[in-house]
Amino acid sequence: MRKLSAHYVYPINSAPIKNGILIIDVENKVCDLIDPKNSNIDSIENLEFYNGVIVPGFINSHCHLELSYLKNKFQEKSKLAGFIYNINKNRNIGVENAELCIENALNDIKKNGIVAVGDISNSNSTFPYKINSSIFFHTFIECYGINPDDANNRFSNTIKLYEELQKNNLNGSIVPHAPYSLSKKLFNLIYEFNQSNKNSIVSIHNQESDEENKLFKTKSGEIYDVLVKLGSDKDFFTKTGKSSFDSIKEYLPQKNNTILVHNTFSQYEDIVTAEKYFEKLFWCICPNSNLYIENTLPDLKMMNKYCKNITLGTDSLASNYELSILKELITISERFPEISFEETIKWATINGSNALNIQEIFGSFEIGKKPGINLIQNFDFDKMNVSKNSNIKVLA
Ligand SMILES: [Zn+2]
Repeated sequence: MRKLSAHYVYPINSAPIKNGILIIDVENKVCDLIDPKNSNIDSIENLEFYNGVIVPGFINSHCHLELSYLKNKFQEKSKLAGFIYNINKNRNIGVENAELCIENALNDIKKNGIVAVGDISNSNSTFPYKINSSIFFHTFIECYGINPDDANNRFSNTIKLYEELQKNNLNGSIVPHAPYSLSKKLFNLIYEFNQSNKNSIVSIHNQESDEENKLFKTKSGEIYDVLVKLGSDKDFFTKTGKSSFDSIKEYLPQKNNTILVHNTFSQYEDIVTAEKYFEKLFWCICPNSNLYIENTLPDLKMMNKYCKNITLGTDSLASNYELSILKELITISERFPEISFEETIKWATINGSNALNIQEIFGSFEIGKKPGINLIQNFDFDKMNVSKNSNIKVLA
């Protein structure tokens, strides 16, 4: 048994507790959470008191661990069209170091207090690291291909990867990459697969660039140009006159947990439409990746008002300097000081665990859970938020 305390403990499912005392067993399961209600805690035996705030382990709901070797390889502010070009043309730069980079990234994930990851995979390169890892992984086997003649082939390769995942007892599902990168035929194959399994979690990159909306609205623009330049037939693209999300939502099942990733250029109308359409919707925000690629952020003030569930992701090291949810929280606190930490810490914990269906174990300090325990040091108690000097000490 350990008794942990700090200036504040954030249980997440209830209000923060001043000098709260978290009691955990030898397996780090939560046994109790005590509110001392202004009584003196100094005399409590074996109490570990820390300067800062104690929060549950973080959930990174969007990452691409397999791309870790691309750290510092692509220039910042290339816009999404430039990033798509790079990831197609320069994907193999440094690939010989892929294994070492995955190992290093995993160590950083642990040090940064992340306990669970929604991880996109296009290959099996990360599978050996996920087997028996102390981190929980939900692997999204990602499928794409704009040529309908290729759809069956692409889908059957994806199924093979999915079966390999299952054979290794790893959690996962099959997901489409992005609105602009799949034929209707391929979208439908994935739709059928997920609709027949209500527990499978769907994730898709959404409105990461306004050029994505432009592609569907006008069949032109930077993304259209780069996809054609990379060899896509112009006939593969359909002008719908609608936003990218509105153009493809019918290819996503309504009842599954659905994670829309990025949403940097999602408008109020997209948000209302999506909230109505999906039963269990999660808006995953990757602020530092958005700044890296598009040099802009989603309208979080508006999203916080209209989105029921926001989660946080780091995206890959191809478009971020660190796999750190704390760093994402710091960016949000700097750019959107009006959104409280009490709100954003839910994005970093319970909302992500609900998205990945792991809320029985992770996301809050509820009795019986084993959520991981992080101390945030150098917390700004005046603003009751993280500061640029905040860091993580993993307590359990
Ligand atoms: Zn991504």
